[in-house]
Formats: sequence, C-alpha cells, structure tokens
Amino acid sequence: MDLALTPAQAAARDTARRLAQELLAPHARTFDAEHTFPTAHLQALARAGLFGVNIRPEHGGLGAGAVAYALAVRELAAACAATTVAMMVTNMVAEAIQTFGDDDQRARFLPRITSGEWPAAGFSLSEPGAGSDASSLTTRAVRDGDAYVLDGTKAWVTSGGHAGLYLVMARTNPAEKSRGISAFLVPGDAPGLTATKPEEKMGLRASATTQLVLEGCRVPAANRLGPEGIGFRIAMTSLDGGRVGVSAQACGIATAAHEAAVAYARAHPAEGDAATRAGEIDAWVRAGFGLCLRAASLKDAGRPFTRPAAMAKLYCTEMAGRACQHALRSLGLAGQDAAARVEQYARDARITRIYEGTSEVQRIVIARELLRGVSA
Ligand SMILES: Cc1cc2nc3c(=O)[nH]c(=O)nc-3n(C[C@H](O)[C@H](O)[C@H](O)COP(=O)(O)OP(=O)(O)OC[C@H]3O[C@@H](n4cnc5c(N)ncnc54)[C@H](O)[C@@H]3O)c2cc1C
Repeated sequence: MDLALTPAQAAARDTARRLAQELLAPHARTFDAEHTFPTAHLQALARAGLFGVNIRPEHGGLGAGAVAYALAVRELAAACAATTVAMMVTNMVAEAIQTFGDDDQRARFLPRITSGEWPAAGFSLSEPGAGSDASSLTTRAVRDGDAYVLDGTKAWVTSGGHAGLYLVMARTNPAEKSRGISAFLVPGDAPGLTATKPEEKMGLRASATTQLVLEGCRVPAANRLGPEGIGFRIAMTSLDGGRVGVSAQACGIATAAHEAAVAYARAHPAEGDAATRAGEIDAWVRAGFGLCLRAASLKDAGRPFTRPAAMAKLYCTEMAGRACQHALRSLGLAGQDAAARVEQYARDARITRIYEGTSEVQRIVIARELLRGVSA
C-alpha cells in the first residue's frame, strides 16, 4: 500500500529514519550487550520532536497524529527497539497528560517531556501481583491534606530509574475495583520513590525495566491526573494508543529481520528457500503494517479503535516472532552471530507479545468488542 502521506507524516517518518540510521543503528548492538540506557539518543529524539509526535505544538510536540507516530516508530524500531520502547512510553505518558490533564498540568509537565529535559517518562500500572489483571493492583494512595501519600510496589516499569516523571496508577478507594483507581504524576526525584536494579531481560536490554518502590511518597493533589476513580480508564485509553505503537515497533523489528533475510538470499542464490522465505516475510510485514496504519487512521479520525489496535498488536507482534524465526532459519549458523543482529531481533520481538497486554489479552479484547458489536 502506497500511502499519500501529509507533509507532517512524511517529515516525522524521514526524521525518524535519519536518526535511526545515523544515531541508533551504529550503537544498538553494543548498547544491548552492555545494557546501556540510551540517554543521549533519547534526548536527540526529543530535540527532533519525537517525544511528542501527537502532542500539540504549543506544548513542544509535532502535532502530527497517530499515523505519523506509527511511521516514526517503525523506522526507529528497525534500528533499535530498546531505544524505541522508551520513546514510545514517553509519548504515551505525554498523550495522557494532554488528554486528561488540566491547563496547569499541561503547562508544568509537557514542555519538560517534549524538550528532552527528562530523558524519558514512565508509565506504571503493573505490579508483582497484577499484570494482565491490572485492576487488582494494590498500591495505595491516601489523601492527606493537599497531598496524597503513595505506598506499594510497582513492577516492570520501562525507563525505571531514568524517567523524570512517572504516571503511577494507585488505589484511592479499596471498596471499588477498577473504579477505585486514580492516576498520579510522580516526579522521578520524589522523596519516598526508589527504582530498583534493572531486570535482567531476554531482549530490549538497553531499556531499563525496574520496580518502583513507593514508601510514604507524598505527591501534591495538583498532580492527580483527572478526577479520583478514573485512573483505570486513563490507563486503558493510553494502552489503546500504546498498542498502535507496539504494533509499529514489531513491524520495525520484522522489517530489520526481513532486510537480513533479503541480504542473505541475494548472497546465496543457490539456496532457493532463503529467497522464498524473504518474500514471505515481506508479505507478513506489509499485512501487519496495514493493520497498524488502519488502527492509527481511526485514532486520527477520532473513531473507536480499541479492537483495531488490539488486532494490530496481536497480529504484528506474533508476526514479528515468526519473521525473526524465518530469518534465523535462512541464515543458519550466520544467524547465531551477534554481529548479524538477527538473534537480537528475535529476543526483542518476543517481548512485544507481552507488554501493553499479552497476546492472550488482545484475543480477549478483540472477542469482547466483536461480540458487543462495536464496529471497525
Ligand atoms: C520489557 C517489559 C517492559 C514492560 N514495561 C511496562 C511498563 O512500562 N509499565 C507497566 O505498567 N508494565 C510494563 N510491563 C509489564 C507488562 O505489561 C506485563 O508483563 C503484562 O501485562 C503481563 O503481566 P504478567 O507479566 O504479570 O503476566 P500474567 O498476567 O501473570 O500472565 C501470565 C500468562 O498468563 C496469561 N493470561 C493471563 N490472564 C489470562 C486470561 N484471563 N486468559 C488467558 N490467558 C491469560 C498471559 O497471557 C501470560 O501468558 C512490561 C513488561 C516487560 C516484559
């Protein structure tokens, strides 16, 4: 599908492509091997507007929309999926503030995110005992005068320990389940907040993933995002948009695997299977990115896109896993060489099936929306 892109969409894609090739790709393998958080690279993405692709220009963003965002994410992820996930979560938090924040919150936080003053923002929903069933989270936020006091342990926080701001979901009303959850903007240096040592992960090793321990962490009431009780809605709305990003990220990883498979097939013309496998990956990636762009277009049009985003996330992330295995099969022993990076793509692709809702969760979301008769 050749899209007629708007100038803003083409500019976001081209900027991302240039930074991906010039900045991210040359370091991606070493950063993975050494678990290096890419602070300077993220700040370069921010300076190019890529921390606020869908944030209005008055707050320092590009205001370019979800299609532009998907195009940019795919370019970046083909070079370094770990840097890209930090950028994606930052965009997700910025959008939540733009959508659910008041004027004061937008003015206080968005310019500091979009400018790259903070190398990332973090989104903190999951807990050690609350992953897929996030509405069972137990972190408490108790009102105390003009502040809330947060206590609990959050888990698997992307950019933990590096983010300048976390969007933390905590329970304000234990008598309610999802409606008892509220959202808080917690500065990274807030007293009482500690990020633990990063997890040792299979993939995305340059992206720090930590627990956040909250012990008597006082947050001004002015940092509550939206009214009490809508934190879970904020999280689910954010994840709808986030899934468009994860599907684009998976397409980026699959594109990189495809390029490796094509290069191998060209260099080994006698191995016919390598060529047909490369062709098959091409078809998968195009089908996947079509689903991703459909969800992004619906989001840009202000139409419901929960089911399209879940479909894109399910298909693209499973597809990226298949694409990487196909490429590894073609490359044989060469695929085991870290320099070829295909083994890294396979490790990174595996994680896209887990965060922002596992494949099983996407199936549940798709089925629920389908049976409710939600169109699109
Ligand atoms: C690298 C990485 C980064 C992450 N970043 C963030 C972040 O920034 N912020 C954040 O809040 N979270 C983050 N997460 C957490 C992520 O969202 C959770 O890991 C995910 O939601 C799954 O939760 P869980 O790991 O507790 O698995 P569980 O919920 O325990 O699930 C275990 C298995 O059971 C399956 N399962 C669960 N429920 C059902 C069901 N009802 N029906 C069928 N199957 C089911 C799951 O699909 C999975 O296969 C991150 C995770 C990773 C790996």
